[in-house]
Amino acid sequence: MALSGQPAEASRRWPLRRPMRVLVAAAGLTLAFPGAQAYGEGGAGLHRSMLKVVPLGDGAHVVTGGITNTGFVVGKDGVVVIDAQMLDADAVAMQREIRARTDLPLRAIILTHSDPDHINGLPAWPRGIMVIAQENTLSEMTDTVAGKQFYARPQPPVPADLKSYLPTELVRHSRTLTVGGISVVLTHLAAGHTDGDLVAWFPAQRVAFVGDLLTGGDPNLPDRGPYPVINLEKFGSSAGWLKVMKAALALNARVYVGGHGSAQVDRDQLKAMILATERRRDEVEKLFKAGKQLSEIRAILKDPPPSPPLFFPTFVEIVYAELLRA
Ligand SMILES: [Zn+2]
Repeated sequence: MALSGQPAEASRRWPLRRPMRVLVAAAGLTLAFPGAQAYGEGGAGLHRSMLKVVPLGDGAHVVTGGITNTGFVVGKDGVVVIDAQMLDADAVAMQREIRARTDLPLRAIILTHSDPDHINGLPAWPRGIMVIAQENTLSEMTDTVAGKQFYARPQPPVPADLKSYLPTELVRHSRTLTVGGISVVLTHLAAGHTDGDLVAWFPAQRVAFVGDLLTGGDPNLPDRGPYPVINLEKFGSSAGWLKVMKAALALNARVYVGGHGSAQVDRDQLKAMILATERRRDEVEKLFKAGKQLSEIRAILKDPPPSPPLFFPTFVEIVYAELLRA
């Protein structure tokens, strides 16, 4: 079963590839990210605990406790992993947890997007494992390996051997794969969190892994309310997020697994997030069109300031930056 809707029209790049940092700065977004130093130093300052494996039924599992929520699905002749962890130690611990449950071989890792907290653990996985991602994620990983800095905030060091784990199985819009006896539908409908997001839908399990399209409840991202994190530096889009998540809602999954915070989101919760996000986006747009400045809009909407430890821009700031660019 595929996600419905039109395929993304070359979501890779906006027609004009304007320097995003300039736009973000013009919108008055916080770029200092003082507390994010810890992230740049390898996540030492981020909330993290012991890995915990939670079965979701029919071989699907979510792994919480690392900096990123990840997952794995055990099929009849192999295991498919969703996201690689950020830290080697967590990637190794996750493999130990998988081995405690099955002897079947690790067949593939699906990357939900290219951010370091989801890919930096790759070199701790067996060399040669099939790595699956959206085309723009490959492009961003290739750029990262070549030394490109996407974010102004401090980033973890790029693992030396990341270049040996670049995705080889690519998805542009939608692709159905059977790996290890597991059927997975991988869809990129539009740019959301980044322009390389994949929704990994396991129809037999009725579980959708959506990566950082869902981040609610992450202690590293307090005060965000129900609103998503949109990475403008990687050409994410709030309008795209709404489109993607409405299609995800239509999947009628039992569980939506987000990359941070609440690892299990049900349909009703997702529906509420979509409605709140749509409403907030409309509010910002209306005020923007009425000529209000960002500071006024934030005051009117009682938008809490970006908060530690990561000081990510708020959703209001993101939408304002997008409107400035439009
Ligand atoms: Zn993440």
